Amino acid sequence: MAEFLIGAPQPDDLRGRTRLLVLQGTPFCNIACNYCYLPDRGNRARMAPETVHAALRWLETSGLAAPELAVVWHAGEPLTLPVDWYRDAFATAASARPAGAILRHCIQTNGTLVDDRWCALFREHGVQVGISLDGPARLHDGQRRTRAGRGTHGAAMRGVAALQRHGIPFHAICVIGDAALDAPEELVEFFAAHDMLEIGFNVEEVEGVHTRSSLSRDRAARFRGFFERAWRRAVALGVDIREVRTILAGLQEPPAGAWPGNDQNMPFDIVTVTHEGRIHTFSPELAGLVHPRIGSLALGNVLTSTLQQVLDGPVFRQAWAEIAAGVAACARDCSYFPLCRGGAPSNKLGELGSFAGTETMACRLGHQEIAETVLQQILQDIDQDWALPPVAAPHNMDKISGYF
Ligand code: SF4
Repeated sequence: MAEFLIGAPQPDDLRGRTRLLVLQGTPFCNIACNYCYLPDRGNRARMAPETVHAALRWLETSGLAAPELAVVWHAGEPLTLPVDWYRDAFATAASARPAGAILRHCIQTNGTLVDDRWCALFREHGVQVGISLDGPARLHDGQRRTRAGRGTHGAAMRGVAALQRHGIPFHAICVIGDAALDAPEELVEFFAAHDMLEIGFNVEEVEGVHTRSSLSRDRAARFRGFFERAWRRAVALGVDIREVRTILAGLQEPPAGAWPGNDQNMPFDIVTVTHEGRIHTFSPELAGLVHPRIGSLALGNVLTSTLQQVLDGPVFRQAWAEIAAGVAACARDCSYFPLCRGGAPSNKLGELGSFAGTETMACRLGHQEIAETVLQQILQDIDQDWALPPVAAPHNMDKISGYF
């Protein structure tokens, strides 16, 4: 299990591994959620066309691109850029597409700017859309406000209505903070009532510049109660919860070989390129971060660095040594490892100050308590000849990578 700890990976070890390319068209966001992890959300800079081109070519020349490559526009509010900026960017990306790769464009948005013009773009290019929405107004507006402190629920729901009017499918990601723990039925019923039948729950995590969560490990029992009730209501209303699907998939596909982790903690499964071309891997939430102990977490730049230079650089070597140690410790010590595969480096760094740790509040609530809920239900159902349905799902349930 631990042979991946030996030495640093070489380019040949990484061939074809990148399935998710996160491009930061802009670091700017038009709203100011109280759990935002972005370090630079006031910066209105844009990615230059040359950088879009270089990001795709870098994957090609590095041999990293998988045959199917999801390009996720994120790490800022992507819809603060003009619609036509994306028409140009998609054309640039197509012209630089790695040989043989199929590109799929995805956008994770706060929904507040979605209108008919955006929907036309999504239709034109088959863009896969995710909306960040924290349930009904009283919960959503407690967490997701403008810089002036006004709620954003009304604007986000106008975006939802536009998507639905145009028949564009989307999923919703809902951040669970302390206020939501007492309202599982209200939350699920809200999504069901608005025909949002595919939802993911992210616990309010400590990561990036968000250094305090309204949740903590001592709320584990309350969180379990929340999830049990939410799942029961979701089953009754036909709402699909990403975390349940992911647990079921993990039960059917145990970790194997030299790369047993998930896509956030194995090198270059995810590549994030910032608007200036800086290269990051592991959790996308690490992009742009300057850590007090490690310094900038950027590994190089798509305009100037080779993969070999990145792998030989001090930042990658330190991050990978810590992350590999953390994943190995999780594999050794945690009975939930087959389902979680070592957690998210962004949570470990944010909560523990190092990538090398194991349990965080985020994994205790968002992985362990959810896994226990699902496993208990399976044990109850086994007596009734229940069989796992075939499920295809990504390897972790964190953030955007769990959907795209
Ligand atoms: S649940 Fe936590 S401690 Fe267990 S494998 Fe995942 S990250 Fe590690």
